[in-house]
Amino acid sequence: MKNENCIFCKIAAGEIPSATIYEDDDFRVILDIEPASKGHALILPKEHYANLYELPEELASKVLIVAKKVITSMTEIVGCDGYNVLQNNGEVAGQTVFHFHMHLIPRYKDDDVTIGWKPGKLTDVLKEQILSKMK
Ligand code: 5GP
Ligand code: ZN
Repeated sequence: MKNENCIFCKIAAGEIPSATIYEDDDFRVILDIEPASKGHALILPKEHYANLYELPEELASKVLIVAKKVITSMTEIVGCDGYNVLQNNGEVAGQTVFHFHMHLIPRYKDDDVTIGWKPGKLTDVLKEQILSKMK
């Protein structure tokens, strides 16, 4: 399944050139065009799924294996000190390209990458609200 208007479908299919650092039957991994840090890469499935909700379980289970492979070799190449592996779903969560992708962001001591939130508080009420509904 491809989406004609989707840039990541075209990149994943090789119709638009990209800096590809890994490829298999299911995924293409490319360097991000506006990297948060040196080595920032994106894992793209070759088929179109808008987000993690849509991604089939089989691919969802494979994507972390690809992430592990790529961050292991990239760490050797760029000599980073850590990694953020993250994935945005929905505009409110910061998603701007609506074809599932996983960010692999190398982290360096004293870099200026900001990925964060203000810690809240898990109250008993909130905890009960969620636990009572979660099956
Ligand atoms: P999102 O905000 O949807 O989680 O992330 C989209 C990412 O895709 C951004 O980091 C952005 O820089 C990257 N991106 C958008 N268009 C292109 C493109 O045409 N080529 C590449 N390599 N990266 C892109
Ligand atoms: Zn797509």
